[in-house]
Amino acid sequence: MAKKAIVIGAGFSGLSTAAYLAKAGYQVSVIEKNSIVGGRARNFKTDEGFLFDMGPSWYWLPDVFENFFSDFGYQVKDFYDLKRLDPSYRVFFDKEFVDIPAMLDEFKQMLEKYEKGSGARLDKFLEEAKFKYGVAVEDLVHKPGLSLLEFLDMNFVTGPFKGDLLCSIRKHIKKFFTNPQICTILEFPVLFLGATAENTPALYSFMNYADIGLGTWYPMGGMNEIAQAMKKVCEKQGVEFIFNTAVKGVEINDKTLYKLNTDKGSFEADYFVASCDYEHFDKNILPEDKSNYSRKYWDSRTMSPSGLIFYLGVSKKIKNLLHHNLFFDESFDVHAQEIYENPQWPSKPLFYVSVTSKTDNTAPEGMENLFILVPVASGLEDSQETRDKYFRDVMDRLEKHTGESIRNYIIYNKSYAHKDFKSDYNAFKGNAYGLANTLMQTHILKPSIKSKKLKNLFYTGQLTVPGPGVPPSIISGKVVAKELLKLN
Ligand SMILES: Cc1cc2nc3c(=O)[nH]c(=O)nc-3n(C[C@H](O)[C@H](O)[C@H](O)COP(=O)(O)OP(=O)(O)OC[C@H]3O[C@@H](n4cnc5c(N)ncnc54)[C@H](O)[C@@H]3O)c2cc1C
Repeated sequence: MAKKAIVIGAGFSGLSTAAYLAKAGYQVSVIEKNSIVGGRARNFKTDEGFLFDMGPSWYWLPDVFENFFSDFGYQVKDFYDLKRLDPSYRVFFDKEFVDIPAMLDEFKQMLEKYEKGSGARLDKFLEEAKFKYGVAVEDLVHKPGLSLLEFLDMNFVTGPFKGDLLCSIRKHIKKFFTNPQICTILEFPVLFLGATAENTPALYSFMNYADIGLGTWYPMGGMNEIAQAMKKVCEKQGVEFIFNTAVKGVEINDKTLYKLNTDKGSFEADYFVASCDYEHFDKNILPEDKSNYSRKYWDSRTMSPSGLIFYLGVSKKIKNLLHHNLFFDESFDVHAQEIYENPQWPSKPLFYVSVTSKTDNTAPEGMENLFILVPVASGLEDSQETRDKYFRDVMDRLEKHTGESIRNYIIYNKSYAHKDFKSDYNAFKGNAYGLANTLMQTHILKPSIKSKKLKNLFYTGQLTVPGPGVPPSIISGKVVAKELLKLN
């Protein structure tokens, strides 16, 4: 008889694990507290006709998605249309904005305007970044992070870039470029890793290759289309989905977990994979003597940021915005310090605006849907008063930089922050992006994918290897399924 596995959570990591386990012949059920798949990448449609992706909006590393679907005999285009954005995104500085071209030659010409000779230096910088991409995305991120031996044969440890494990990406970029705008543009992709450029190892410059070399894409219909496509793959493999059901507790027999108790009854299985926030399962669901880590351990982790998000429906078109817009008109370093070193509500935050209605039919004719994200420290006190204050600040800056009135045209307005991340996803400290990829929390130093106390319990998702982001979460699911399958 087929072995039975239960995956807790229907985000990208859970969908991925479920699909691989089912393909290997397991009878798989996914238990999800919310009503749809996608986890942090859920979406919602308003009565006015605006469609909002709730979380991720950047589609990077297209080969990771293609690889997932090809493992099951499909291609991305069997499920959704992918469009490459050009320009990739717009960056607003204090007194100007710059559009980041999708094509490398145009990108180099753009850099030349800021710093003579930088185009040629970019070639060298990207050559290294591409090499690292090969090692990282095709090798490192697929390691389960269970033993130091995994690194022995790796090019990073023995090869030409071994220094990149200790050097920060900020220092690394400065070896090639001096202009502050160029440095900001090249440091930006590191924000996806949930840590500052100063604290992120230079090996992560492969993210620059992802940005400039591989491009920024958009799945028509929005990011939740990816999760819907993965659900279809799961269902083809026979996976069962149980929605609106929250896991509340477990029953254990010696070193084996055998039953999950939920608000809708109990579920038994041979194997369990927790793809919900790791800390939630470790500290709130398991009994204390069966958890992997102490409260002190969790409290001392560096979390990736949370986010204060505004979903706005605007009853007109806005001329000076693109699909992706980064507002780097205030100090990057001060904001980063207020997220990581001295967590507090930021004094002058950077923010990001996504307008998918520039590319897609996600707003009524003649209107726009704005997703505004202010990255903020996890674990902060979240009140309506604070949200209102930041709304005013962001709208002032948005109207100043676009040169037009926006707030008078808002016909739908919803905010989202720590309290919502906690109630919707059981997110530790209300985090948005999981655990930061700092040097001390890289790979083997992340929370383990295996339970140390229960032989049939595994963990996947953005708080374990390889880290935060949609592509890493999909890879995490595959890595964990592979480890679980080794038991049989
Ligand atoms: C605002 C925001 C912007 C982002 N931007 C990007 C981006 O542009 N590009 C990118 O690549 N990444 C981005 N990310 C990160 C990316 O979305 C995440 O890393 C990824 O979606 C995490 O997937 P996951 O499966 O680990 O977790 P989740 O998506 O959180 O899935 C876990 C699931 O477990 C469920 N669950 C929790 N507790 C229980 C329980 N007790 N019982 C049952 N179910 C439970 C939750 O409801 C959830 O569905 C962003 C994230 C956020 C929040």
